[in-house]
Amino acid sequence: MSQVSRDTFDQVMVPNYSPMQMVPVKGEGSRVWDSEGKEYIDFAGGIAVNALGHCHPAMVNALTEQAQKLWHMSNVFTNEPALSLAQKLIDTTFAEKVFFANSGGEANEAAFKLARRYASDNFGPEKHEIIAFYQGFHGRTLFTVSVGGQEKYTQGFEPLPGGITHVEFNNLDALKAAISDKTCAVVMEPIQGEGGIIVPDDSFVKGVRELCDQHNALLVFDEVQTGMGRTGELYAYMHTGVTPDILSSAKSLGGGFPIGAMLTTEKVAKSFVVGTHGSTYGGNPLGCAVAAAVFDEINKPEVLEQVAKKHQYISEKLMAMNERFGVFKEVRGRGLLMGAALSDAYQGRARDFMNATLAEGALILMAGPNVLRMAPSLLISEQEIDAGLAALERGIEKVVAG
Ligand SMILES: *Cc1c(COP(=O)(O)O)cnc(C)c1O
Repeated sequence: MSQVSRDTFDQVMVPNYSPMQMVPVKGEGSRVWDSEGKEYIDFAGGIAVNALGHCHPAMVNALTEQAQKLWHMSNVFTNEPALSLAQKLIDTTFAEKVFFANSGGEANEAAFKLARRYASDNFGPEKHEIIAFYQGFHGRTLFTVSVGGQEKYTQGFEPLPGGITHVEFNNLDALKAAISDKTCAVVMEPIQGEGGIIVPDDSFVKGVRELCDQHNALLVFDEVQTGMGRTGELYAYMHTGVTPDILSSAKSLGGGFPIGAMLTTEKVAKSFVVGTHGSTYGGNPLGCAVAAAVFDEINKPEVLEQVAKKHQYISEKLMAMNERFGVFKEVRGRGLLMGAALSDAYQGRARDFMNATLAEGALILMAGPNVLRMAPSLLISEQEIDAGLAALERGIEKVVAG
């Protein structure tokens, strides 16, 4: 392993990423070690993926047990881990049917295709328009970047799929003006993640559901980032009193193993008849065995209840820190999906805070150039939170001092 280093990246990898200088080699719970042996507290959680932290024994056991039984068969056959994971998801959510994919983008691709197909089957091909929101993020395939509301991700990739409109998030009048009987689906994140941890008003979410119902449009919730306990409920829709028709899940679903899922109702699922959609790896036994173990760990009242308490604890500490430095305009989010929006004097400097905090021993994320984001393990301990926040505070001190 000593033959490779961060410099190797620039020699051998396509330059679409710009990874940090340190190279992580080991993780345990909410701690990570780099190739030099330096220890870090992980508030990034692999971008809201490592819901149980690193190398949780339940995941390691599920993976190694399944690894000795059966890895892959394709969807020419079904398999027991996929069926039992689907059963768990159905027993605990609105869903009656499940489709498995390998990532969030693929789960959304399935969701958007299903919405089109359902509308075409039931109302005709002119009902094909998708309405989504500015700053939304749904993945990096051509269809999902097109539904996503950030132009920088579609520039230079034209021509894009058509029939997609964007309106302002959390603005019901804007949606009202755009929606029509040609709308097949409205797509939204119940909390915009990449867009800056934007929590919409409950009245907006309810209003979106009503408008969808008035126009026979499906409501698609992209819960790739908010799902699987991240907000303190299994899925964020459970806080809102609004039930979607289709929901996509990934990230925390596999706890670090790549898997995605699309959840829907029996009525809508009917449009994916044999041959309409598929995936070679989707629902493979290895991924589903790990996800089932992750599900069982997260779906415990004591784990889910702790999420809101940890949010409160971190919020209070961040606000206290801010009295000293005045770097945050607002601390927001739900559960352990948290954003600290930078004050006017520090606009555009999220990367500086992230780098300074890393040097002080904690991994944090950005959500755009003006928001620091945290998405730690749901199991992170109070001592680990304290140690990570102390590193963040030292990082902030350095940035403020220039
Ligand atoms: C991360 C993310 C995606 C994309 O998931 P991939 O696994 O990277 O394809 C889609 N939607 C949301 C809301 C996300 O946060």
